[in-house]
Amino acid sequence: MDQLIGKTEEELCALVEAIGEKPFRGRQIYHNIHQRRMLDFDQMTELSKALRDKLTAAAKVTESQIASVFHSTDGTRRYLIRLGDGLESEAVFMPDERRDTICISCQVGCAVGCKFCMTAQMGIKRNMTAGEIISQVVIVLNEVYGAGNETPHGTNLVFMGMGESFLNYDEVMKSIRIMADEKGLGIRPKRVTVSTSGIIPAIYQFANETVRPNLAISLTATTEAERTDLMPLNRKYTLGELIKACRDYPLGERERLTFEYVMLEGINDSDEDARRLVRLLNGIRAKVNLIPHNPAPELPYRASSMERIQAFQQILIEKDLPAFIRRPRGQDISAACGQLAARHEAV
Ligand code: SF4
Repeated sequence: MDQLIGKTEEELCALVEAIGEKPFRGRQIYHNIHQRRMLDFDQMTELSKALRDKLTAAAKVTESQIASVFHSTDGTRRYLIRLGDGLESEAVFMPDERRDTICISCQVGCAVGCKFCMTAQMGIKRNMTAGEIISQVVIVLNEVYGAGNETPHGTNLVFMGMGESFLNYDEVMKSIRIMADEKGLGIRPKRVTVSTSGIIPAIYQFANETVRPNLAISLTATTEAERTDLMPLNRKYTLGELIKACRDYPLGERERLTFEYVMLEGINDSDEDARRLVRLLNGIRAKVNLIPHNPAPELPYRASSMERIQAFQQILIEKDLPAFIRRPRGQDISAACGQLAARHEAV
């Protein structure tokens, strides 16, 4: 047995049977870990002491633990989480009056190589397991709310930390199913957003999932050449094919596709870019998140001014394309995606 978090109820039943226990013990363990967020077998008092000792000797609930927490003046908390093999992932907790959002990672590093992203500088170390992905959420919730209670109603999850979700498809989907499960974390798929830089075959696969969260596409450019410059992945999965996949995507009644657009001064933030974006998304039920770029000495871009971002937003809104400016969070603690782990690695 290794770590038990991130295993399905069936997997845990089979595991306890293999050590001579009745299968219902597996269901109890699943419930204790994923719904009550107990990370220590000794907290699971409905299990016998003998079984708890047996489990403690053979397995861990999770091998992940907090390496550091950074607190921003705006309430954002950023977690560097050490995984079992010593690599680190990062997660961010963003409180809001109406709901909390937890941003999580799905890979250590990333292979996609977007030119405006700090994580890209790390390259890819490895995929994270479903257990490691879920551990981030459990660790953050426990640090904020304590263990033993249900997931606070209204918790939103976004897969926008380190990594490309669709290059770790199976483990991401497994983690989502366990997190959506009422006997698991109980975070409904409509409260979860998976972000992709545009892995087209996986978009078609995701469209057919029964448990399917919201989908966000990291777009950031409106021409093939511009997008290839910023996101070299565009050579393989072109903008034209990506937009076709978005048009083919079977949206639910109230669903919209989200398009993320990082605003880079003098690169993709002109009025003409905004008008092209409107034309590109014409006919797709979409909303656009305009993301102020978080500059870093390692990155070759400057952030668009807030006046420019607002002017860009206005053009979209006037053409009935809903557009929102993402409020920068935790800037005093290197809050941009991938900044923390990448920085940590560099020192
Ligand atoms: S923006 Fe996302 S997909 Fe692109 S390099 Fe960064 S983590 Fe990877």
